[in-house]
Amino acid sequence: MNDIERMIADIDMEVAATRELTGRDSLDDRVMQAMRKVPRDKFVPRDLRRFAFDNGPLPIGHQQTISQPYIVALMTDLLQPEKNKTILEIGTGSGYQAAVLSLLVKKVYTLEFVAALSEQAARRFRELHYDNIECRTGNGYLGWPEHAPYDGIIITAAATHIPETLVQQLKPEGRMVLPVGMPFSHQELLLLERDRHGNTQVTDILGVAFVPMLGEEQLPGR
Ligand code: SAH
Repeated sequence: MNDIERMIADIDMEVAATRELTGRDSLDDRVMQAMRKVPRDKFVPRDLRRFAFDNGPLPIGHQQTISQPYIVALMTDLLQPEKNKTILEIGTGSGYQAAVLSLLVKKVYTLEFVAALSEQAARRFRELHYDNIECRTGNGYLGWPEHAPYDGIIITAAATHIPETLVQQLKPEGRMVLPVGMPFSHQELLLLERDRHGNTQVTDILGVAFVPMLGEEQLPGR
């Protein structure tokens, strides 16, 4: 089995092990195909490449991490990506999650708080020809109003609460997937769905461990 197929098998195994929590026996085939296609080794630091296809998070510098492949696959599946959709990601990090999404949707906008990470990701997107991703440095708490509303929003750092500004940038019938909880302690992965009237429903998916969302103290009125 090659490295990528081993990673895919590990994701499938974890999906099966968590089926009681997530209500899913397997993830969408299209999502798993996208996971096969994106070369995760190109998104991790050179000295960690030999671990690139392990089903675990890895450090990417600036005290940040590239998420675990199983979590990337699960969050992507929860967003229900479709070819006509536009997605906003908060927390570009390595760019890996955005690359996976870019194969499944029309356009991905991704915001990163740490300028050096954003610039590195922009370079990767160019070199690897992920041409439907636009990234910039910014504070995800404010969203990216110029391109709103979005069909889906994914946050890959843990906020202490559901950011209302981002809910406002979600279309009716849009989906938002995000971890919420205290820094480095108990966090839950949530799925927020807006109905066609704009009302929201939140479903708790499972316990997770993400790096904290930064920049709350920079918000206007703080
Ligand atoms: N999706 C990433 C995972 C990155 S970890 C990947 O596939 O590699 C979370 C990222 O969120 C970090 O890079 C961190 O710098 C960023 N982040 C934290 N707070 C943020 C904020 N308020 N706005 C935008 N990005 C933020």
